Amino acid sequence: MIFFGTRASNIGNFNLQNSDCSYCEMSDTQRISVFGKYAHIFWIPVFPIGKTVIAECTHCKRTIEQREFPPSLNTSYLMNMTKAKRPLWHWLGLGFVGFLFALTTLLGIIGASAEPDPRSDMLNADVNLMVKNPTMESDSISYKIKSIFDDFANEDIDPEKFKYLTKISGEKALVLVQIPKLRKVKKEGRMQALEMIELITDSQQAFEGKEMYIGVKGLITMMVIKTPTYEKNSRLALTSKLYDFYGPEPVSSE
Ligand SMILES: [Zn+2]
Repeated sequence: MIFFGTRASNIGNFNLQNSDCSYCEMSDTQRISVFGKYAHIFWIPVFPIGKTVIAECTHCKRTIEQREFPPSLNTSYLMNMTKAKRPLWHWLGLGFVGFLFALTTLLGIIGASAEPDPRSDMLNADVNLMVKNPTMESDSISYKIKSIFDDFANEDIDPEKFKYLTKISGEKALVLVQIPKLRKVKKEGRMQALEMIELITDSQQAFEGKEMYIGVKGLITMMVIKTPTYEKNSRLALTSKLYDFYGPEPVSSE
């Protein structure tokens, strides 16, 4: 049994003025019937896919399809075609998917505003603690990462404006680097930036055996994120994946 395919429903009937039948030659006898085709899954319409248009002579009953219409009849039909309107239910499936999508987005927004993840503030606080000139004493690992970027980063992206922070908490380590002009850096270049960071972190005794949380931020958003369970190098990288550095997601108080 096939549960998907196309079906059609009659979506309009109207008479055309100034039309002659090419068989019986009577005037004003052409009646148009329009059938709207739609794709269905389990007989539920999903979206529309084209129309079938038929003209019937009310006098001699001959029917012709649109491709057989004489030019004058076709022109007449085209001028009147808005009389056959496709009903919204031909869009039922896609409309429903769109509705669900809008609903989950809305619930997500409501949920986010009702229950802010406190780890988001912790990350923002650390982002604000990033500095342009980490010292060997204050943050030796940032200092080393900065040295390698100063040597290898392209001058076009202003390495002197990069900011750094590294942090260890229990079995986890966080590395944040901000490259304000990261949007100018191509995907491979961003990958190299991550590799440079890991070149340093992998060789640090302090980071040995730690779960690494690495975030490379552009001017506004994180674009390269690597955690024990997530790796993304794109504008769609999910900053929230870094939250696990601060601990598991808090359970809703309700
Ligand atoms: Zn006729």
